Amino acid sequence: MTDSSSALGLERAAVADACRRLGAAGLLIGTAGNVSVRVGERVAVTATGAVLAQLTAGQVSVVDLDGKVVAGTLRPTSELELHLGVYRRYGAGAVVHTHAPMATALSCVLDELPCIHYQLLALGGSVRVAPYATFGTPELAESVLGALEGRSAALMASHGALTHGPTLDKAVEHALLLEWACGVYQHAAALGTPRVLDEQQQRAVIEAAIVRNYGTTQSVPPAQEGNR
Ligand SMILES: [Zn+2]
Repeated sequence: MTDSSSALGLERAAVADACRRLGAAGLLIGTAGNVSVRVGERVAVTATGAVLAQLTAGQVSVVDLDGKVVAGTLRPTSELELHLGVYRRYGAGAVVHTHAPMATALSCVLDELPCIHYQLLALGGSVRVAPYATFGTPELAESVLGALEGRSAALMASHGALTHGPTLDKAVEHALLLEWACGVYQHAAALGTPRVLDEQQQRAVIEAAIVRNYGTTQSVPPAQEGNR
């Protein structure tokens, strides 16, 4: 433990809250998975062995960017190097790793989740499956970091999923979106061969999203209020 600036009290509570939300949504089962948020040179990260759906702020530790614990009493997740790698290489604000059921099922079969729905463009498009390596190893971290190139999500072969975002809320939103998309893919693939959006269709979605400021609430201009 050091000075209070290392303690990140609010962020530790926010990480615990994010875990409980992901747990309630069925994405975090038992002790499997881990969540972190970065503030400057510090990272608040879930402890290894904690039941994530019931996590408390006291089960979130704070480390520096070299992984040294600077606040908290519990040893951080065994995937700490993976989280730190995402911060270092991609400048992310938060990281979510889960063994969510739909994502994990697809990670056991596919090499890539194709862009079958335009909402996947919020994650960068198709989602790569990082080749398998043992959990907690530098090999796994390197594999996943490679799969994340140009994306905010990756599946991890025969393991699970990882998402990141500029904020903790965004990283959680991306994890929920990825799990939904994996479920859609499974249902679609059970019915037939899912259609994949081509380059031109993907580009048109991105252009339309920019023009319409998609994904944000927008006020109706006063003159139109009577027409709602
Ligand atoms: Zn894992």
